[in-house]
Amino acid sequence: MDFHKIEKKWQARWKKKKIFEAYIEKRKKFFTSLVIPYVNGNIHIGHSFTYVRTDAYARFKRMQKLNVLLAQGFHATGEPILGAIERLRNGDEAQIATFKAFGATDRDLADFRKKGAEFAARFWSKKIRESVERMGFSIDFRRSFITAIDPAFSRFIEWQYNTLRKKGYVVQGTHPVIWCPHCQSPTGDHDRLKGEGESPIEFTILKFRFKDMYICAATLRPETVFGQTNMWVNPDVEYLIVLVDGKEKWIVSKECAEKLKDQLKKVKASGSIKGNEMIGQHCTAPMIDKDIIILPSKFCDPKIGTGLVTSVPSHAPFDWQALTDLKNDPTELEKYGVDPKILEGLKPISIIKVDGFGEHPAEEVVEKLGVRNQEDFEKLKEALRIIYKKEHHTGIMKENCGEYAGMSVEATKIAVKEKLIKEGLADTIWELTDEVVCRCTTLNHVKILENQWFLKYSDAAWKKRVKYAMTKIKIIPDEARNNFDNTIEWLKDKACARKTGLGTPLPWDPAWIVETLSDSTVYMAYYTIARIISKEKIPPSKLTDAVFDYIFLNKGNPKAVAKTSKLPLRLLNEMKREFEYFYPMDFRNSAKELVQNHLTFYIFQHAAIWPERYWPKIIGVNGFVNVEGEKMSKSKGNIIPLKDLIEQYGADLTRLNIVSSAEGIDDADWRAENIKSLRQRYDFLFSVIKGIKKSKGKKLGNAEFYLNSRLQDILSLVTEYYDHLRFRTVVQHALFDSTNALKWYISRVGSVKNANRRVLENATRTIVKMLAPLTPHLCEEMWSYLGKGFVSIGEWPSTDKKLINKNAEMQEDFLRQMIDDVEQIKKISGIKPKTVKIFIAQPWKFQIYNTVLRNKGKGVNEITKEIMQTDMRKYGNATIGFIQSLYKKINELQEIVPRNKQIEILTEAKHFLESELQCVVSIETAGEHEKAKYSTPQKPGILLE
Ligand SMILES: [Zn+2]
Repeated sequence: MDFHKIEKKWQARWKKKKIFEAYIEKRKKFFTSLVIPYVNGNIHIGHSFTYVRTDAYARFKRMQKLNVLLAQGFHATGEPILGAIERLRNGDEAQIATFKAFGATDRDLADFRKKGAEFAARFWSKKIRESVERMGFSIDFRRSFITAIDPAFSRFIEWQYNTLRKKGYVVQGTHPVIWCPHCQSPTGDHDRLKGEGESPIEFTILKFRFKDMYICAATLRPETVFGQTNMWVNPDVEYLIVLVDGKEKWIVSKECAEKLKDQLKKVKASGSIKGNEMIGQHCTAPMIDKDIIILPSKFCDPKIGTGLVTSVPSHAPFDWQALTDLKNDPTELEKYGVDPKILEGLKPISIIKVDGFGEHPAEEVVEKLGVRNQEDFEKLKEALRIIYKKEHHTGIMKENCGEYAGMSVEATKIAVKEKLIKEGLADTIWELTDEVVCRCTTLNHVKILENQWFLKYSDAAWKKRVKYAMTKIKIIPDEARNNFDNTIEWLKDKACARKTGLGTPLPWDPAWIVETLSDSTVYMAYYTIARIISKEKIPPSKLTDAVFDYIFLNKGNPKAVAKTSKLPLRLLNEMKREFEYFYPMDFRNSAKELVQNHLTFYIFQHAAIWPERYWPKIIGVNGFVNVEGEKMSKSKGNIIPLKDLIEQYGADLTRLNIVSSAEGIDDADWRAENIKSLRQRYDFLFSVIKGIKKSKGKKLGNAEFYLNSRLQDILSLVTEYYDHLRFRTVVQHALFDSTNALKWYISRVGSVKNANRRVLENATRTIVKMLAPLTPHLCEEMWSYLGKGFVSIGEWPSTDKKLINKNAEMQEDFLRQMIDDVEQIKKISGIKPKTVKIFIAQPWKFQIYNTVLRNKGKGVNEITKEIMQTDMRKYGNATIGFIQSLYKKINELQEIVPRNKQIEILTEAKHFLESELQCVVSIETAGEHEKAKYSTPQKPGILLE
């Protein structure tokens, strides 16, 4: 089979006949789109899972006779492509390698350098389009656009923002944001090289009197002030002495001083002090008003907090370990002229009672995890997490905590912080939950932005509406719903404008650009009209807010709108009709990591702008993509471009291999070795289908009934699983089970030539249709032998109840079991028999079997008594023994093939059995032989001779 030839052929035919172009029609529509890809490279294996799922679902719905629109645009907004070009211009080797792997030549790279981001964005949009077309995605490309580059689309974004602002959802405010000092912009989730999902978190700065200054230490646990024993300083760091807000002198790291400047503090340097100069001196701990000694440590990181740390050894693993290290090596203190004896006075102070721990939780966890020293960073971080979680949620302050004794840790944390701030002994600093790096490769920090524009996602009324929307939206699988609910609950105001990057200027404050994710929340509405805008070459100036208001929100008088916008009324109405017909979006599928941004914002913005009937219908969520069991990463070099997979395996097997690897919320795993078994099934199907025209069989017997019936079973399951996006199970049934049934049938009749042509045609037609959404090219090719037109727009088969024949299935299963049992005995005994004798159980056993089966509710004694009153009693102990053996597995008893049918089917299939078993088969019904005693109605006896 030449996959590439077959794929090219059908792609060309689909294109020529324009079968994926969707227009307004009388029948019901189904609107979906592929997740809009960033144009900073080509699409790769990471895109494959969500994309194939979306296309397969669209194709399935199309075959169910819905008027399907599958759209796709391109995303250029924000930092991704600008960052990539900047890295390229700086000679970043990794970026050059990535571009090349995705299909750019040296000449292309020279063009990127010279012509910049917009050129590169267009370049990649073309490459992506090539890849998706080669994958066979059934897209209506007339509706495509590139965000941030297409001026008409930018007009749409302006309308979106004007609308949100009018509703009070875009507001000015002062908030902490994740800030890139190089780009001078807030860094959204998708503008990050590292740290997606991280957020700002507020630390308390504790102030320790030290001469006429304060040593500052940042903490997330202000309630632990009662357990402080000493201060930690990094001997090698040169700390700054800074004048803060013109009032106090603080000792902090240089990095901290920079952050404070971005957090509304006036910071002026007035000197510096080396860490080692402070060692051995004392400072006064806040709240407990106690002088504590300053000691050296290695874990004080100038980049985190203030670069100094207060020590609470009983409850903080790092502190416990650092003290232990000093005790183990007294020279560490002697180096700085401090007498190690002072350590004897430093006893850990236990201040929190927590279930499951004794006096000093830090000591316990450090020992349990086997921490060696304070440089055992990962283990100490893990210890910190364990204790923090446990103490935060269940800890109670002990008697030695003054007015807070008996209070929960959670409440004390807040109360202590408030009190210390009021007394001037504490302040706050915002930090990141973990490291964030901008796409420009700069390390980010938190900045408090004043009068910045925010989307007011915290708005109670807005959230309420979104929560209501969630009751209307179907989430597949349902287990992803929790993730949405949590995101909605916790979502805070979000900076919505940047200074740099590609994008649409904020219409009322054009010094700012609308941030990246906003361009991907309601763009689906634009697909409905994009075709008309580009076909009619409508200039952006005519796409006024009034035009969009009329199209999308039904506001205003169309004639008046047409007149003031100078847009022909005909086009205005045409766009309105398209929107009204295709909207809302019926299905959107994305990966689970996008729930916390894209997908939730999608619901928020729709709930804000549109009334209920335009809200999203179904949201599908899937897992990550792993490659050969490993996470995808640049360093592993396993981010394989889709074009390479197509080149190697063909589009269809690539599609099939990825979607059959997982379903539900599970992560997909690309395993190249699985392709082989998939391919074999298609080779088999092709060989059968190509042979059908030679099929001459006329018989319509059990084997035919069986095949008909099995395929109806499979079809009804497959239809249901498609609807639930469970493609892994679909493949199990539609490919493996159905070809198994087909193989069985062909071996039953001996060959394709002996098969009943009509039965075989119907069966293969059903199989091909069931597989068409997943492997469209191969199915078109097979369909060309079986039917007319394109299978891609053929009708999904409906289940034919008349063909379901449970008796036929039972009898064929009986026959198959027979063969399996003989093979099993052959294997165990090592005998190569000349004859196989099959002993059918005696009639009385069938009689008893059925009596027991029909009276499962009755006890064994009752049934035995009843049976022994009939003429069955003449077999005596054998009767009783048989009843008892049935009761051992009473719950597993099922309908069985009647005795006469067993004889009939074995006799009819004698030749088949002989050819399968490669020996003479004799069917024994008389029951004189010793072996016959062991025959049961479920399992005839077998003797090899
Ligand atoms: Zn940056």
